[in-house]
Amino acid sequence: MTRSNGSIDSMEMNIEDNFSKDDDFGRRPYKRNRGLDQEEVWTTVGRKGKRFARSIDVDDSTRVREDFMEICISSTDKLPKQFMLAKTLKSENIQDIIKVKYLNPYKVILHFSKEDSAEKLLNSKCFNENGRKCHKTFEINQPFGVIKNIDLGLSEEEIGEALTCDFNIIAVKRLKRRNSLNGQWEPGESVRIGFKGSSLPSYIYIFDTRISVSPYVYPVTQCSHCWRYGHSLKMCPSNRAVCPKCGDHHTNCEKTSYTCNNCGGNHMALAKTCPIYIKEKRIRELMAEFNCSYKKALTIYTPPSPPIYQPKDFPELTQNVKDKEEETIVEDTNKIRPNLSSYAAVTIKQSDKRICKKVKNKITSNSSTD
Ligand SMILES: [Zn+2]
Ligand SMILES: [Zn+2]
Ligand SMILES: [Zn+2]
Repeated sequence: MTRSNGSIDSMEMNIEDNFSKDDDFGRRPYKRNRGLDQEEVWTTVGRKGKRFARSIDVDDSTRVREDFMEICISSTDKLPKQFMLAKTLKSENIQDIIKVKYLNPYKVILHFSKEDSAEKLLNSKCFNENGRKCHKTFEINQPFGVIKNIDLGLSEEEIGEALTCDFNIIAVKRLKRRNSLNGQWEPGESVRIGFKGSSLPSYIYIFDTRISVSPYVYPVTQCSHCWRYGHSLKMCPSNRAVCPKCGDHHTNCEKTSYTCNNCGGNHMALAKTCPIYIKEKRIRELMAEFNCSYKKALTIYTPPSPPIYQPKDFPELTQNVKDKEEETIVEDTNKIRPNLSSYAAVTIKQSDKRICKKVKNKITSNSSTD
């Protein structure tokens, strides 16, 4: 695969760049669909109605998760408030709701303890007409794949028109990549394709030529304000800036000993070696591999097993211990040395014997020839 300028990693692209700069959506023939607002897929509702990723909520990650279905009802008109909403749900015989949370007057999140009841809402006429729509927030309904090596000059519209597939194509988006020379995001050669259905096709056709499709892995978004994962600066629920070096509440400092505010480790918050980053990355890979939600991927995720021996199992030797060790070695070699000298002595004696013999023989032969 040939790659043009810069170091290219379109998969690593920030969601913020991926979604928010997408002003040309309207020009595309593809219907703008919910699948493209996937950021919602693994976000949950924070204080003051702001969304933040469940993945980065430290308290949340240590808590045993309730298993529930999350459905979002959105409406072009203001939704009825809690009392009237409950009444409507009752009249539609929709049960097993364990939580209702308004994001704003036009959007409400419902948690269901039973999948059947959630399905009932998804299929209810009342909540899917007159500007109202329902969708699952935890499930990825439309899988995304990536095709590579797509000429830079082609528009998304042109690419879309040339593509055919057994599955319905609902979105075509050229991914951005970061130019390592100037750090700027620019159009890349990888194109993300959204498919209708629950699985990803292995192949797609460009002008009837078959090319392979690889699963699209969501990038790990990191906020440049609080340095948590799973949301961008724009969506940050925190009012206070966090230092990427020491984790305190200031924007930056000159400290050289680092404390990661995500894991507490001695690295910067941006470090790709941070175990929290590695975990978030792995979860997104699982999401792509199994075409599942963040929540589901979290259940599949297995943390890396710690090494059998930790550095703490081998403590630094103190000077006393070091001296003792040294003495023991000297003692040991002294014990060995007598054996070595006696061996040397034997060897010398044997060699002496051989020399003596040779000299004796020489003398005898000389005296006989005289
Ligand atoms: Zn943030
Ligand atoms: Zn600091
Ligand atoms: Zn860390």
